[in-house]
Amino acid sequence: MAEKNVVWHAHKLTRQERAAIKGHQSCIIWFTGLSASGKSTVANELEYALNKKGMHTYIRDGDNIRHGLNKNIGFSAEDRKENIRRIGEVAKLFVDAGVLVITAFISPFKEDRDTVRGLVNAGEFIEVYAKCPISVCAERDPKGLYKKAMAGEIKEFTGISQPYEEPVNPELVVETDKLSVEECVDKVLAYLKSKDIIKG
Ligand code: ADP
Repeated sequence: MAEKNVVWHAHKLTRQERAAIKGHQSCIIWFTGLSASGKSTVANELEYALNKKGMHTYIRDGDNIRHGLNKNIGFSAEDRKENIRRIGEVAKLFVDAGVLVITAFISPFKEDRDTVRGLVNAGEFIEVYAKCPISVCAERDPKGLYKKAMAGEIKEFTGISQPYEEPVNPELVVETDKLSVEECVDKVLAYLKSKDIIKG
């Protein structure tokens, strides 16, 4: 609950003015999907491509943030909610700062993703569903997590012992079992151009 004597201060410079000096708009490019669906891989290549085009980006992903800001957060549905809420608030600050924010979190619950969507203006939350059958994710298993989850060694593992709620109407779907990493990145870049967030 906000303290009643803490009053919001309106700043003179707007987010649009901050972004304008960079030659692109700011937004949150929010990757969601199962573990090993390819969120981090595509997000990192996307950030690299944007940086090489001279764009100001910042990336956050699930494991890194749990080493710092969210190191006291677990994996229960309640903790996942708080994890995403904090990430959303931080992403919002970066949007205010004029940055293209890229996030890669499983974010399994629709309500939590919609909470973040509601933090920023219309068009500033771009939900990218990294879609991949769980059988392919489990086969990829780059961190050996599916193996452990299926052996019952990890509780509350998305897709195995906790649900993943598919996005209903995401801005983009990248089918990582059908497209190459480069094709997935190109799809996001084309979308950003089509919305005038970045220039051609
Ligand atoms: P997540 O961040 O969703 O947990 P990662 O990006 O860490 O997933 O792992 C995805 C794995 O799938 C990586 O080993 C990556 O090389 C592989 N992969 C294969 N094809 C693709 C693709 N088209 N897009 C993304 N990742 C892919």
